[in-house]
Amino acid sequence: MRVLSCIVTEHNLWLVLLAAFVCISGGWITLGLLQRAEKTQGLQRGGWIFLTAVAAGSSVWCTHFIAMLAYEVGAPVTFDPILTMASFLLAVAGSSVGFAVMLSRTPRLAPELGGAGVGLAIATMHYTGMMAYHVDGIVEWNQSYVISSVVLSVTLAAFAFNQAIRRPWRLAPQAALVLFVLAVVALHFTAMTAVSVTPLATDAGLADSYALRAMAVAVAGGGLLIIGTGVASYMIDERASRESIEKLQHMALNDLLTGLPNRCSFSDYLRGEMERAKEDGAKLAVIGIDLDRFKEINDLRGHKAGDQALKAIGRRLARLVKDGEFVARVGGDEFAAAKRFLNQSELLDFVARLEKTMFEPIRIDDFETVTGASIGVAVYPDDGIDQERLVSNADLAMYRAKADIGRAVCFYESRMDEAARARHTLAQDLRRAVELDQLELHYQVQTSVSTGEICGYEALARWNHPEHGQVPPSEFIPIAEESGTILMIGEWVLRTACRQAASWDRPYKIAVNLSPVQFAHADLAKLIHSILLETGLSPARLELEITESTIIADKSRTLHVLRQIRTLGVTIAIDDFGTGYSSLDTLRSFPFDKIKLDRSFMSEVERSIQAKAIVRAVLALGKSLEIPVLAEGVETNHQLEILRTEGCDEAQGFFLGRPKPVGQIFQPDHAADDGLGSSFSGRIPPVRMRRR
Ligand code: C2E
Ligand code: MG
Ligand code: MG
Repeated sequence: MRVLSCIVTEHNLWLVLLAAFVCISGGWITLGLLQRAEKTQGLQRGGWIFLTAVAAGSSVWCTHFIAMLAYEVGAPVTFDPILTMASFLLAVAGSSVGFAVMLSRTPRLAPELGGAGVGLAIATMHYTGMMAYHVDGIVEWNQSYVISSVVLSVTLAAFAFNQAIRRPWRLAPQAALVLFVLAVVALHFTAMTAVSVTPLATDAGLADSYALRAMAVAVAGGGLLIIGTGVASYMIDERASRESIEKLQHMALNDLLTGLPNRCSFSDYLRGEMERAKEDGAKLAVIGIDLDRFKEINDLRGHKAGDQALKAIGRRLARLVKDGEFVARVGGDEFAAAKRFLNQSELLDFVARLEKTMFEPIRIDDFETVTGASIGVAVYPDDGIDQERLVSNADLAMYRAKADIGRAVCFYESRMDEAARARHTLAQDLRRAVELDQLELHYQVQTSVSTGEICGYEALARWNHPEHGQVPPSEFIPIAEESGTILMIGEWVLRTACRQAASWDRPYKIAVNLSPVQFAHADLAKLIHSILLETGLSPARLELEITESTIIADKSRTLHVLRQIRTLGVTIAIDDFGTGYSSLDTLRSFPFDKIKLDRSFMSEVERSIQAKAIVRAVLALGKSLEIPVLAEGVETNHQLEILRTEGCDEAQGFFLGRPKPVGQIFQPDHAADDGLGSSFSGRIPPVRMRRR
């Protein structure tokens, strides 16, 4: 009698090694594929579970088969093909169920139960394989070994997949592999100890033994091919998912339009660079960049042109950066840059390159434009040692550059902080100004140029600040617009002007200025209607002044509101015409009742031929469109004479009357002085220029 497990010969040792190799590599890829399956859901998971089961089944089956062929029983051996195939299929099917159970995670012990299932599948495969193994001899089984082999396989596999799925410690993946291989090996050797054969015919014959070895190699090759397929699909999928992860990462860290890093990457970059600068004593410049005329491109040429401009700027900025420099797009028309440096000259060079780039013309379709930009610089550690402070100081400097028409670049200075603080306090004061009755309206007369008759009055807001004295509207209106207080102030101005005008003996027209913010937020037509009803002012006496920027801000909405207002019987004037956009399209888009020619032309009209030509052109335009023109800023009789000669309809200006408090408007001019300009000079910090 021969116990099979004892008769591995030296010649067949390499077959045992081959079996071990197949088992270990198969186990390794099985666990890899299982991890892949774990990360997927639904049908995809089903596919991965199947692949895992094929890898597990074929590696276990090949291991078993090669190991079986390694035994020399000393009697002729044959294999039942159907049972051999069945053993393979059972291994695959059984482990499929096991993997599905362990990944379902529904019972708490799913990983262990599924693992036990895989162990059971290995055992079933082994014993079915043994049934396929026909040896010419008397085969006897030792039951306790059989039971032990199944228990060992089930238990070790349960532990293996406990480690693989739960990963309770760092080396869990390796432990899982060792336990899985042990499950296969322990089952095999214990099961083989259980069987003993007493050969009936001695000597299997050498030819047979060669044939069996060849078969072992073929099986191993086939098995490795199947495992290889698993490895290949794993790698392809790994690569595909790595690529999509990389793509997602790229999307998360970069701006889609320009391809430049986004705010998030900029912030990460700053964090890292500040750490480095801290260590090696270098400096780090944080630079805020805001385009000056981007909105104009967007509004006048459309969003597609705007996008093209941003892309062009993005490309140029990307090309401009050198080692140790970084640029990002951090908002709609906002960019940011950073640079580590030791000498100030390096920073100046970088800033100069940025400025040059931002002022280079951009060609979009058939037009060329220059967006220009305001650039603010703050330096670590001088202007702040934390990221938030540095970025906000760079922004402060950038706003300063924006307010300063002659300067595109501004370096942060600590006084800017004070300025920003002062503006903040002023915004808070302004919120209470209406309640505390600090606002007042002054009225400036509007006169017919040909007859000298009074046509109406423009209401101009004044703020009597308890500490700063009289703050001019050019200072507080932008602050009110920024903080939203303009809605409350605008309503107060409208109500007060209508009420006061309604009380006058003569039915002069009253002109009230409107801010774009009022159009964007309030139900303006309704408000005007209710104020007219409340104050009893005839709608025909109210004229509203808007600037072109109001229309440009949101053309369709503004025009809609303007039409509503017009149906009330209120007239609309376009203010400050000739500056800014002055597009004929604006005049065409709405039937304005008056064009107010900006006062800058009056100051020039006596000296400059160009200014005079523009005045003439606007007057001609008004005539052909049948819109009366009012010239603002008339300060001398000579200017008024020119207007008369050119055929201007109305005029307004210090020469005709300064803005005066309501109680003084019907008194001769010398009795009043609007007091502006002289009493207030530069106490309020500069503001980011915004046109009404
Ligand atoms: P605006 O609507 O163009 O008002 C005319 C401005 O020109 C007034 O300045 C007026 O005092 C000034 N002005 C009038 N005649 C002359 C002149 O002969 N020479 C010179 N150099 N200036 C003259 P003010 O009152 O400082 O108002 C400035 C701007 O503030 C206004 O320009 C208007 O845009 C805005 N504003 C004033 N009140 C309000 C208001 O209640 N609401 C809104 N949204 N804006 C207002
Ligand atoms: Mg006005
Ligand atoms: Mg004006």
